[in-house]
Amino acid sequence: MSASSFIPFHRASVGQEEIDAVSEVLRSQWLTTGPKAHQLEKDFAEYVGARYAVAVNSCTAALQLAIDAIDLRPGDEVIVPAYTFTATAATVIHSGAVPVLCDSKPGEFNLDPESVASLISPRTRAILPVHIAGLPCDLEAVHDIAEQNELHVIEDAAHALPASFQGRKIGSVSELTAFSFYATKTITSGEGGMLTTDNEAYARRARCMRLHGISGDAWKRYSREGSWFYEVEDAGFKSNLCDILAAIALAQLKKCERFAEQRRAIAQAYIRGFDGEEGLEMPPESDRDHESAWHLFILRLRPEELEISRDKFISELKSLGIGTSVHFIPLHLHPYYAERWGYRAGDFPNAEDAYSRALSLPLFPDMDRETIDRVISSVISLVRTYRKSQCFIHG
Ligand SMILES: *Cc1c(COP(=O)(O)O)cnc(C)c1O
Repeated sequence: MSASSFIPFHRASVGQEEIDAVSEVLRSQWLTTGPKAHQLEKDFAEYVGARYAVAVNSCTAALQLAIDAIDLRPGDEVIVPAYTFTATAATVIHSGAVPVLCDSKPGEFNLDPESVASLISPRTRAILPVHIAGLPCDLEAVHDIAEQNELHVIEDAAHALPASFQGRKIGSVSELTAFSFYATKTITSGEGGMLTTDNEAYARRARCMRLHGISGDAWKRYSREGSWFYEVEDAGFKSNLCDILAAIALAQLKKCERFAEQRRAIAQAYIRGFDGEEGLEMPPESDRDHESAWHLFILRLRPEELEISRDKFISELKSLGIGTSVHFIPLHLHPYYAERWGYRAGDFPNAEDAYSRALSLPLFPDMDRETIDRVISSVISLVRTYRKSQCFIHG
């Protein structure tokens, strides 16, 4: 990348393998769910260590199927972090259940188990933790709370491929886990997702509900082994993953480990590069029990050290040719959650503090050393330009 070019916040790493994979599917004339989706499910389940993987067209769909599998009833409550993307809570709402928002841990993005515990009511049925930026949240505490109160746990792992908690890959830890292959995620098929579970009944239900609620191997009904006869068991969804996209996801899954190493190296370069800058706060640390997928590198500014707002920091970085984003605007600050569910600014102080100071730096596997260094030097030059004066007037 030349010194003057714009460094985007994200760029997908797709190459000849993905192009060839799509061509092969197109030439085969089998375009919808078929052998590629089937293979993807097998490979994915094996990769994360889950018994079953169900391929779908988004993480949102995987969450919807997970919520359907645990059979929520109208009025049931599900605890969802305020610090997440709207899809996490919207899928709960579509089932007729109530999303009960919880706060983040002080100084972190991930949910605070104490906040979760304080929100349990007789109507609570499930907890829906999210692993922000790819760093596993405190799943041990979440599972303890769930066991004590007989609750389900559904993980939103849209950021967490591949991540591990206490040495176990995310996707093999809780009853149900939802992954995303959206364009900006760690592996992508443009749009796509996966639901993993060890529970045979959940897997069977999800396979049926993702394709109109039709029983059996519905996708085979147009193939030689298929039959025209089918039975509808329930009012299903339409969220199967087509083979064109499954083939892309298969090619990406093969590169998943390499991508993860590249992401980790970029994150480490950022942490080293920003060392000693008092105006900057690094993301919560990955450790042996919480191995991050480094989907995002969320930098936080320290307003007590800097004379520049987060918003201005972002626009100044943009004028230096560096794209960033903000993950996330907490749900309760959006008009819908405020108006429909009665939340207000001030309800979740830790989430608000994190949000007010956060910006996500460029982080994608194909970043070269020069690009990484340009991001580091641009951030540092802004921090130094806007550093609060070190001189104090004693009076
Ligand atoms: C991206 C994302 C989703 C939604 O993923 P889709 O595949 O686009 O449905 C859900 N939750 C979180 C936390 C996300 O970042």
